[in-house]
Amino acid sequence: MRLLNKICLITGAAQGIGLATALKFVREGAHVVVADLKPAAVDAAVAQCLAAAQAAGSASQVLGHSVNVTDRAQVDAAVAAVLARFGRIDVLVNNAGITQDARLQKMTLAQFDAVIDVNLRGVFHCAQAVADTMVAQGSGVILNASSVVGLYGNFGQTNYAAAKFGVIGFTKTWSRELGPKGVRVNAVAPGFVETPILATVPEKVLDSMRADVPLRRLGQPEEIANVYAFLASDEASYIHGTVIEVGGGLTV
Ligand code: NAD
Repeated sequence: MRLLNKICLITGAAQGIGLATALKFVREGAHVVVADLKPAAVDAAVAQCLAAAQAAGSASQVLGHSVNVTDRAQVDAAVAAVLARFGRIDVLVNNAGITQDARLQKMTLAQFDAVIDVNLRGVFHCAQAVADTMVAQGSGVILNASSVVGLYGNFGQTNYAAAKFGVIGFTKTWSRELGPKGVRVNAVAPGFVETPILATVPEKVLDSMRADVPLRRLGQPEEIANVYAFLASDEASYIHGTVIEVGGGLTV
């Protein structure tokens, strides 16, 4: 129960890495707010989290909030709801993200804007919405989803790479601004993880991805969730301003 009674807001928590993180956090005793786009998916994730908490003997409370992170008013409303219910916020996991791939010469402005809006502006919205509260508390943890693509770039991902590099810039900057106030900020850079985000990637490409990884397999969402749980916990109390790569050795 490393996250016992911590109040944790996780964006994009209805599926994939976000859902695995929500499940891990409730098993560790956290109270979790599942934030995602579609109310039905949010409700289903909340039900899964409550079942996982019960099975783990955890008294976690789980709330759902339908929120589009690109809309600042919706983000503010979600944070206000967390504060109304719990009176504090200990952990923000900025996990919501999308891809819209095309190589430079083919990428439309709409594709560029959509990915920057969610993966970069959305992270800014959520962090800014919780920062005053965390600073007033004198404690808090902000965890940002970057990617190995945010370290090394990737063919066909101009928009995504820019956003994921940008998230590392946020992490470094906020660690300088908020660290002195007691707020830890870190980023996680997953490699290729088996979630719905890879649904459009052809099987042949997935095979070549597996071949590129020294561990010879894709990651599982739980393997990223484990790192978020560690970074959110007091075990990581001196880890700040870093990017933890979780990619099975992909970039060695
Ligand atoms: P996913 O597509 O399975 O889940 C993403 C979730 O974010 C979905 O539930 C979606 O509804 C939600 N979301 C999308 N736009 C949103 C918005 N505007 N507001 C609120 N929620 C929104 O993706 P995933 O694979 O679980 O990825 C999670 C994060 O990890 C993303 O930031 C992604 O870029 C990053 N990542 C994933 C991989 C991978 O291989 N899966 C690798 C590196 C980084």
